[in-house]
Amino acid sequence: MAEDLKEKRLDDVLKTKRMKAYRRLCHELGLRDTKQKRAILEAVLGLDTHPTADEIHAHITTTHPDVSRTTVYRGLEAFARMGLITKACHPGSVTRYDRNIDIHHHLICLHCDAVIDITDTGLDALSIPDTSDFNFEVQDFRVQLRGVCGSCRETDPKEE
Ligand SMILES: [Zn+2]
Ligand SMILES: [Zn+2]
Repeated sequence: MAEDLKEKRLDDVLKTKRMKAYRRLCHELGLRDTKQKRAILEAVLGLDTHPTADEIHAHITTTHPDVSRTTVYRGLEAFARMGLITKACHPGSVTRYDRNIDIHHHLICLHCDAVIDITDTGLDALSIPDTSDFNFEVQDFRVQLRGVCGSCRETDPKEE
């Protein structure tokens, strides 16, 4: 229970900080700050599941039934460009949005597509290869550890 409360407070701190950054960036970049956009940002910041645009849309329509899918998608793309969230992609899947913009890595469940954040100083310290031969500029990196999550192993213990 105490742990839950601590988590909840951390969530609130993250949300407040990021909402402030959003308002500041809107002002600096001359972007329109709308109620709908705020609701979308609040929704993505409140979810630690690396949700897809559709999942965020489903979540948001419970309180804001007038927000369209396109608005949600455009909002999320704008927030990613503003650095307020990141895009966590993995092959074969639609874009997942990530409220965690600090350096971190992902545990990916190959059964249910769960994406779980993990931090590890050893992984952070991995040396990035020289990619200039590919004319490619690395801006960020995430290590994906793939496997099967606890709840999938529980429901189907024989599966790897
Ligand atoms: Zn799973
Ligand atoms: Zn993440």
